[in-house]
Amino acid sequence: MSGTDVKLLLRSTRVVTPGGTRPAAVAVTGGTIDAVLPYDTEPPSGARVEDFGDDVLLPGLVDTHVHVNDPGRTEWEGFWTATRAAAAGGITTLLDMPLNSLPPTTTVEHLRVKQRVAEPKVHVDTGFWGGAVPTNVKDLRPLYEAGVFGFKCFLSPSGVEEFPELDQEQLARSMAEIAGFGGLLIVHAEDPHHLASAPQQSGPAYADFLASRPRDAENTAIEGLIAHARRLNARVHVLHLSSSDALPLIAAARREGVRLTVETCPHFLTLTAEEVPDGATEFKCCPPIREAANQDLLWQGLADGTIDCIVSDHSPCTTDLKTPDFASAWGGISSLQLGLPAIWTEARRRGHTLDDVARWMSAAPAALAGLHRKGAIEAGRDADFAVLAPDATFTVDPAGLFHRNQVTAYAGRTLHGVVRSTWLRGVRIAADGVLAEPTGRLRTRENRA
Ligand SMILES: [Zn+2]
Repeated sequence: MSGTDVKLLLRSTRVVTPGGTRPAAVAVTGGTIDAVLPYDTEPPSGARVEDFGDDVLLPGLVDTHVHVNDPGRTEWEGFWTATRAAAAGGITTLLDMPLNSLPPTTTVEHLRVKQRVAEPKVHVDTGFWGGAVPTNVKDLRPLYEAGVFGFKCFLSPSGVEEFPELDQEQLARSMAEIAGFGGLLIVHAEDPHHLASAPQQSGPAYADFLASRPRDAENTAIEGLIAHARRLNARVHVLHLSSSDALPLIAAARREGVRLTVETCPHFLTLTAEEVPDGATEFKCCPPIREAANQDLLWQGLADGTIDCIVSDHSPCTTDLKTPDFASAWGGISSLQLGLPAIWTEARRRGHTLDDVARWMSAAPAALAGLHRKGAIEAGRDADFAVLAPDATFTVDPAGLFHRNQVTAYAGRTLHGVVRSTWLRGVRIAADGVLAEPTGRLRTRENRA
């Protein structure tokens, strides 16, 4: 049977669809979902049947915030290792951030280099964000036409010299250019002046690090973004929101019609400042993990729809860069393989369902990126699935991670939700921690109004 006419019928007593979770049989032909049928539907002739019993069939996760660092810093991560970790964690599509690789994705030529490097290695579907830096306004439209999903910028230093931040004037110029062709600007929103005037103490104490990245830096940056977005009628997305103080501003702007979307990350929702041991820089990221009371409000923001998505911001480095000094250690938390169980563990404790998790981690990020064939179990979409045993538990052993560097803030935690298998366009790409050969495809932005 050829790849285009393979028929599959996937059964589960708990299929998570846009209309709710129910027993169903999902018919798949040639990698696309044909129909979501009653559970006891007779299989079409020649169809292979997979019955997952009470394990949950979720839409494959879409992670729009991953730093793969390939080529150039492949000792930190790479397309082979990152996409294997993604597949093992139930993610079927990821978008790579434009920085930390060399070259950064700031010109079409650089994009082509990255695509060439990635193509033979990807185990899940993979696309690229472009970067907006002070010198590349003229490159933005060609990059967009070449298929990047949008553009990332920083307002404060990014941590790598080849990807400088934009000042307010440069931000306005890039945003106007991007809005001019209907693109999306995604922003690391921390205000440099607030960061510069915050107490700068180096050392192993987490409290000192937290004080050096105050909430005001986020709040002020977001306030500024809202003003620009309103004036230019631009689409703007706030990356990795940590400060819950900004939620009322965001909600008000959205009510008023400003085209603003927001993501947060598993670490802000599952780890708290109070529990970070001094010197434990595997917990360092910017903006930082804040207090438990802040975390409660982020969950409320998800529940009321002020926050759209949960994505990993997987940003790994080699072990030696995680020095015990919070000032000098590389910032970034590795969680690509662990996002789903980490979030599910906390979501269930707070009374949320897997329908909520699928919305935050699959449907909303797919919508953000305009990936119209991803993000839901319904007819016409790609047959991308994560099969989850939601009540099974495991303890995170870094040695079991497919990330290139097995450093993670989740080490030793017991999490709910074991990913039994992951399916990409009807093909099982991971099963009980065993990965198939790569069948991921490179994705470009879809032209669809
Ligand atoms: Zn990031």
